[in-house]
Amino acid sequence: MILDLSCLEGPKHTAQLNTFMSGTYGMNKLVYSFGAGQADGDASLKNLLGGKGANLAEMNKIGLPVPPGFTITTEVCTAFYALGQKYPEGLADQVRVALAQIEQSVGRGFGDEANPLLVSVRSGARASMPGMMDTVLNLGLNDVTVEGLATQSGNRRFAFDSYRRFIQMYSHVVLELDHHMFEDILESYKEVHDFTIDTDLEAGDWEAIVRAYQDGVVAAYGKPFPQDVNDQLWGAIGAVFRSWKNDRAHFYRKMHDIPESWGTAVNVQAMVFGNMGETSATGVAFTRNPSTGERLFYGEYLINAQGEDVVAGIRTPKSITKVQRESMGEGGLSLQEALPDVFNQLVEVYGQLEGHYRDMQDIEFTVERGKLWMLQTRNGKRTAKAALKIAVDMVDEGLITQDEAIMRVDPMALDQLLHPTIAPGAVRDLIASGLPASPGAAVGEVVFDPDEAELMAKAGKSVILVREETSPEDIHGMHASRAIVTSRGGMTSHAAVVARGMGRPCVSGAGDIRIDEAAGHFKARGRVIRKGELISVDGSKGEVLFGAVEMEQPELSGDFAALMVWADQVRRLKVRANAETPLDVRTAREFGAEGIGLCRTEHMFFDANRIAAVREMILSETTQGRVSALAKILPMQRQDFVEIFTIMVGLPCTIRLLDPPLHEFLPHSLEDVEAVAAATGLDKAKLLERAKELHEVNPMLGHRGCRLGITFPEIYDMQARAIFEAAIQVAKASGQAPVPEIMIPLIATEKELQILKDRVDAIGREVMAKVGVTIAYQVGTMIELPRAALKADEIARQADFFSFGTNDLTQTTLGISRDDSSRFMGAYVEQGIFEKDPFVTLDQSGVGDLIKIARDRGQATNPNLKLGICGEHGGDPASIHFCEKSGLDYVSCSPYRVPIARLAAAQAALSS
Ligand code: PEP
Ligand code: MG
Repeated sequence: MILDLSCLEGPKHTAQLNTFMSGTYGMNKLVYSFGAGQADGDASLKNLLGGKGANLAEMNKIGLPVPPGFTITTEVCTAFYALGQKYPEGLADQVRVALAQIEQSVGRGFGDEANPLLVSVRSGARASMPGMMDTVLNLGLNDVTVEGLATQSGNRRFAFDSYRRFIQMYSHVVLELDHHMFEDILESYKEVHDFTIDTDLEAGDWEAIVRAYQDGVVAAYGKPFPQDVNDQLWGAIGAVFRSWKNDRAHFYRKMHDIPESWGTAVNVQAMVFGNMGETSATGVAFTRNPSTGERLFYGEYLINAQGEDVVAGIRTPKSITKVQRESMGEGGLSLQEALPDVFNQLVEVYGQLEGHYRDMQDIEFTVERGKLWMLQTRNGKRTAKAALKIAVDMVDEGLITQDEAIMRVDPMALDQLLHPTIAPGAVRDLIASGLPASPGAAVGEVVFDPDEAELMAKAGKSVILVREETSPEDIHGMHASRAIVTSRGGMTSHAAVVARGMGRPCVSGAGDIRIDEAAGHFKARGRVIRKGELISVDGSKGEVLFGAVEMEQPELSGDFAALMVWADQVRRLKVRANAETPLDVRTAREFGAEGIGLCRTEHMFFDANRIAAVREMILSETTQGRVSALAKILPMQRQDFVEIFTIMVGLPCTIRLLDPPLHEFLPHSLEDVEAVAAATGLDKAKLLERAKELHEVNPMLGHRGCRLGITFPEIYDMQARAIFEAAIQVAKASGQAPVPEIMIPLIATEKELQILKDRVDAIGREVMAKVGVTIAYQVGTMIELPRAALKADEIARQADFFSFGTNDLTQTTLGISRDDSSRFMGAYVEQGIFEKDPFVTLDQSGVGDLIKIARDRGQATNPNLKLGICGEHGGDPASIHFCEKSGLDYVSCSPYRVPIARLAAAQAALSS
């Protein structure tokens, strides 16, 4: 067994520590006392005292019944680790003084034979980490004080019950003994003596069990259970500090982005006893329902028990209110019925707490012989639905302002409300996990081929497309699928971006999955899942689950709409959408998008009816060949724009000219080549030859973006013509002229933009002259290459607007492939090289600097330059805060992110 016993001997003082304390850290006050209506700290000291400690102090100050105690600060925890698990100088003295204050307050002595003080020792970090760290209760009992407690309480059974609890908990937490040993001892005792439940055991039984426990400790630990109460105290303090670094806590911090450096505080508090008989109890409650947000006091309690009994599930807790008990169809008595006086005290306390904290509270309490004691309060965790309801209700109740309500709801949590989700209690049989690329959940049959996905969907089946990665050619299959899973690719991979745009749940980069399409199955973690078998995808968690897991449908409540109206009133940033299909554009509009920030026209090229003409155009070796192929595409493309302009009537629409490498449009199979040959009458062998020629080694940095426009200008000419003609058509039909913003991708130099802008202008002039109608339009560029950002002063001379394409800008600034980063990004985040995946949350210090440089240099030569962002970061709350601070005009994101962006933009405006 590995155990550092140094902590049992009390704190160490060395010259080195003296220097440490007086020097770098300058910590003087290490311990904060509270009790009897007074406290050294308050809720504002949460970073120093941890959430629990700060709120214990605060509750004391507002006159609530809180057992006296003290908090050892989180800085001590940091020092404890910095000093190699030793305590800073001065701690022992300060603990002694604080302990004496508790003794005085309750009129008992720590270790006193006749009238012993017992304490609890609990963790409490800045952010709540429920159940992750350690706790020791009933500390201060030994073979002598237990007799004192028995006499003083007049309840021998209670004293020995508390002692056996203490031995078990302390041995497990501090001495690191296996808790099963104690459970086995108790169970066999009960069996031998024919007891079924713990409450049947009498004082003598618990005494016998205490002796058996102590023998067990000697056998397993090699030493008797510590009898010195000070040794016990320091042992527990050390264990709580050490529990900051246990595996559970480590994992929890990783999941919730809690920094390792924060440390935990330790709270030492006089024990109050919920196990003192039928008028004693322990319980936990929420001041409002945490899943629905309803204003109903909601919680559980146990008569004659201590806190850990509720958590341990040894006995089933009962409802607090009669209403709750009846709605659950529960027998027995609610707290309201069993101890009405206590219930009334509790109702008063929770009203006071909500009034004071102005938020829903999650409380822990103990009732000792009819008297209520508060052990904890904190802002309660809640579902997105509850968060919305509580925020809106509290404004109606006059508890908070509209601005505060806006700040109360986590924008990302709104995702839960926009997509179906996996039901909270559902059984999850995990097959593989990857990146949570697009939220929501879906059930469907496994299919590997996009064409097959489409056919099956047409036949009325729910399918889930599972592929190594997707390409623009798979769009139809992705659209037909309920969800998409890829074994490769990151958060900005094709699958992720497109799935988010379509609102399809997606797990990308699920590296465990090995697809064998020919064999009709995939393997993951030793399991084989065949085509046609049902799986469920949790895109919010990045999990692929076996079978049809139970789902919950989204519900857009009135509270949601109310909060959005308030958010819109305060935000400065406009919110647009990245969308191109009429369905997506309509969804975006319904979610409140104020225009289109990015219409990726290439997605329109992949339509099944068009791909042959597109391939014909690309594979053609002559301009004439391309022009005639493009002529077939023009009317379809014009119709696309007519639909978009009509849905977004009166709002700005940024249409990006063709961006992806030609490579992506090449025919993949012989079948594809034959189709092109048949459609065009071209020679198959020649077509194959041409396809080979167009193949690129590094297409992301190859013949794409404006480079296509420079080399094959007829493509952009056709697109510009389609845009102008569509805009004029809609202007005539609706009487309201749209303002198209034509966007040229991947610009690196002013000259590129100048050449292409001149051509767009020329087409515009020609079209307008022909029909005799003039419409306003703009031409701008994406900034997605470092050179473009650096030379923004020159480029801005040709541009009406810049839209930061932060997917490519991140890729090109970091030199990290957006499609391959998922293979190693985990390690980079884990090791703190990046705080977050830079393809998800903008790298503000690097890529962000380029954005600011581009802004400043661009506006220096073109003060009217409009600025937006259309990379995936446009829907990420932290990146939206950056956009607000940087003075951008709008953010543009996937349709399903629009409400999130509206709320995040409002929060950013309020906090800037
Ligand atoms: C970008 O690069 O950020 C962008 C929006 O363009 P795409 O993702 O289409 O390359
Ligand atoms: Mg790009």
